[in-house]
Amino acid sequence: MTKRCLTVLGATGSIGLSTLDVVRRHPDRFSVHALTAGTRARELAELCREFSPAFAVMADVQAARHLADLLSDRPDIEVLSGEDGLASVAADAACDTVMAAIVGAAGLAPTLAAVRAGKRVLLANKEALVMSGQLFMDAVEKSGAELLPIDSEHNAIFQCVPADKVRNPAAAGITRILLTASGGPFRTLLAEELRSVTPAEACDHPNWSMGQKISVDSATLMNKGLELIEACWLFNTTPELVEVHVHPESIIHSMVEYADGSVLAQMGSPDMRTPIANGLAWPERIDAGVAPLDLFAIGRFHFERPDLERFPCLRLAAEAFAAGGTAPAVLNAANEVAVAAFLEGQLCFADIPVIIEKTLSAVAVMPADSFEIIFAKDAEAREYAQALLRSL
Ligand code: NAD
Ligand code: MG
Repeated sequence: MTKRCLTVLGATGSIGLSTLDVVRRHPDRFSVHALTAGTRARELAELCREFSPAFAVMADVQAARHLADLLSDRPDIEVLSGEDGLASVAADAACDTVMAAIVGAAGLAPTLAAVRAGKRVLLANKEALVMSGQLFMDAVEKSGAELLPIDSEHNAIFQCVPADKVRNPAAAGITRILLTASGGPFRTLLAEELRSVTPAEACDHPNWSMGQKISVDSATLMNKGLELIEACWLFNTTPELVEVHVHPESIIHSMVEYADGSVLAQMGSPDMRTPIANGLAWPERIDAGVAPLDLFAIGRFHFERPDLERFPCLRLAAEAFAAGGTAPAVLNAANEVAVAAFLEGQLCFADIPVIIEKTLSAVAVMPADSFEIIFAKDAEAREYAQALLRSL
């Protein structure tokens, strides 16, 4: 057993808290090097008192001052702030494992810092990979970082592929990846009903309890679009080989089809502590605190095709990936702006894809030759999407 020293980027979020819940069960296996959060100093302070990290980082400078006040009796915990603080605890030689669980584009720079430092990187922050695809995977290869997928679908696929063929599934005889989707809370609504759904309804996912942004993404199917792109980069494959299957029970987390007709599935209760524990302990297995699967209680599995008419975000993601270059970064940025506006009550649910589609057609695609270009396109797309919102 290797004892691992962990930095949790996004410790106060849904994935961060689930990670710390697994860590809490195995004090002999894990120690905590650093915990980070965006703005919630009080919540981070409480976690710091329990896990005693060497560093605590707030992205927001004001919040970092507040955190330092709250931890003034804990000189053993050094408080840092901003992007530099995040990058430094992600790359620090004292830690070997980084949970990348910041939401959205804000996670790219610190996740990349962990990758460049050659860490075991547990990737929950799919937006980072969607934005920078090839450059991100090149950085992984160059540093020798160990990239392990935490997104439940990708972790499921990872578990169904031979360990030495993760980047070359065809060589293992894999003919198709069956990416499952819950369909979200609005799966059965009519197109006109989608115009009046509220943020509270969008965040009330039938199977998973998650942060607000990914909950909305799950309701629009943008989450599956981002995951389609994520799967192509992680498993070095093409969208033609990835088929989305809506499976409302969320028990099969994804499947892999082999040339001989075998289909391997990974199943489990919909609880992120399973993929998190899988990544933390890999290649070993540890208790994650997850209830055993009761298939008698579930009874039946259902499968249907995604409806791209009612949920155009999945189509938009596939188109952005096909366009290549900076298009996925633009897709992601426009989606972040639109989702935030929806959550604030400024945009109707059905107009989320409208903002994204218009932004994608207005912001010119460029070759994604550097992270600077990616960040510049991200900013340009945000500005364009914001202007669109104001014009509505
Ligand atoms: P969340 O909103 O619950 O938590 C986000 C975390 O990021 C918080 O700790 C927050 O403080 C921090 N953060 C937010 N903005 C920041 C900023 N600008 N700078 C630094 N830190 C910032 O989100 P979540 O649901 O835990 O999701 C995190 C990531 O994991 C997302 O990329 C999501 O797509 C992915 N993911 C989540 C789930 C899930 O079940 N929640 C499943 C699969 C993948
Ligand atoms: Mg997922």
